[in-house]
Amino acid sequence: MSFKDLKLNKPILRAIAEAGYAEPTLVQEKTIPFVLAKKDLITSAQTGTGKTAAFALPILQLLFDRQDAPKKGKKIKAMVVSPTRELAVQIGENFKTYGKYSNIRSAVIYGGIPMEPQIEILKKGVDILVVTPGRLLDLHKQELVDLKSIEILVLDEADLMLDLGFIDDVKKIERLCPVDKQVLLFSATIPFKVEELAKTILKSPERINISPDLPTASNVSQMLYYVPKKNKMELCLHLLRNTIKGSILIFRRTKHGVDKLEQTLAKNGYKVESLHGDKSQNDRKTALGKFKNNYVNILIATDLAARGIDVKDLDAVINFDLPNLPDTYVHRIGRTGRAGEIGTAYSFCAADEREYIKTIQQSINVQIPVVEDHPYPLDPKAKPEIHKKKRGSKYKKGRKGEGSKKKKKRWY
Ligand code: AMP
Repeated sequence: MSFKDLKLNKPILRAIAEAGYAEPTLVQEKTIPFVLAKKDLITSAQTGTGKTAAFALPILQLLFDRQDAPKKGKKIKAMVVSPTRELAVQIGENFKTYGKYSNIRSAVIYGGIPMEPQIEILKKGVDILVVTPGRLLDLHKQELVDLKSIEILVLDEADLMLDLGFIDDVKKIERLCPVDKQVLLFSATIPFKVEELAKTILKSPERINISPDLPTASNVSQMLYYVPKKNKMELCLHLLRNTIKGSILIFRRTKHGVDKLEQTLAKNGYKVESLHGDKSQNDRKTALGKFKNNYVNILIATDLAARGIDVKDLDAVINFDLPNLPDTYVHRIGRTGRAGEIGTAYSFCAADEREYIKTIQQSINVQIPVVEDHPYPLDPKAKPEIHKKKRGSKYKKGRKGEGSKKKKKRWY
C-alpha cells in the first residue's frame, strides 16, 4: 500500500516524501482510514511503529479538507494530549514536518517554561494544539485557552498518562471539550485502567492492535549479560570500548544511578548526556538536542524521562539496570531498531535481578541469548549482593537525607 492509496492530499504527500517515507507503516495503514472516517479509535502500538504519523497525517488531512480551516484559524480544532514534555515537543515537530505545505498552524504547550510566549501563540490562533495536561489546565483556569471548538482529541501514550497519575486531569480535559468530538486513544499496552478510561470517553471505538504477541520489535537483537552488580560499571566500559558503537541509550532505574554513570563515563572520556526528572526543562531539551544532533553519542536516562522520545538511528540500548516490569523492557528496547533499522539491546542482569529477567522472558516469550564470554561473569549460584561497605557510609547518609528532605520528590 502507498500513502496515495490512503487518500492523503498532495501537500501532505509532498511533505511525507521529503521526510523520506516510502510507504506507510502497519499502524498507519490500519489507523489512517478510520481517522479519516471520523471514527473513535483505540490503537495499541509502541513508539517506533510510526504511530505519531498515524494520527498526525489524517488530522492534517481532515483539517485541510475543510474550506474554512485557515480562515477560522483562531479556534483550536484538534488537540493531542501527551504525558511528557519531550513527547509533546516531538509530536509538535512531526505536525510541523507533515504540515509544511498545508497552511495549518500547530503549537506545543507544556510546563516548566514561561507561559507568556505560549499565551502569545494561543492569542494568534492555532488549528492543532499539542499539550501536556498540567500546563493546559493552568491556562484553561486562567481562561487563556478555549477548548470548545475541538473536534478531534488524541490521547497519546494513555498507559503512561495513567501511570503518571494524570487520570483526573485527562478526564477533566475531555469534559472541557465538546461532547460531540472524535477521540483517538493511543497506548503501548491496554491495561485494565486504560480500558476503563476508554469506556468513559470513547464512543463505539474501532480497535487496532499493532502490538504483536511477541511485543518486542523483530529488528532488535537482544543479548543478556549476567554480571555481579559491583562490576556493571566495568562491563559497561568494556562493551563501550570493544563492542558497542554508534548512538547508545542507557537506562538506569534511578536518578542517582543516572548521575553516577554519567560522571563515570565522562571521566573515561565519553561524550555523554543524561535525562531524568530532576533536570530542568531546559537541561533536558539541551541534552536531547545534543544527542539527536550527534554532539554526544551516549544518552543515559530513567524510564519515564525517556519514554516516548524519538531518537533516530539508535544503534543500541543498554539496560544497565533491568526494569521490574516486562512492559518497561519492551518500551526500552523499542528505542532501537526503529522503522526498519537494526538495533541491539544489551541487558545487564545482577543476582538480585534474576526474577525480573525471568518474568520479562516469560512475558515476551523469548529466551534472550546469554553472552557468557565476557570479563565479569556472574557465578550462577551467586546470592544477591549486599553492599555492606556502603551501609552507614556517606552513600547511605546521602540517600537517607534525600529521603527525608525531599520526601515528595520523584525517584525516577
Ligand atoms: P513514532 O512511532 O511515531 O515515534 O515514529 C518512529 C519513527 O518512524 C520516527 O522517526 C518517524 O519519523 C519514522 N516514521 C514514521 N512513519 C514512517 C514511515 N512511513 N516510513 C519511514 N519512517 C517512518
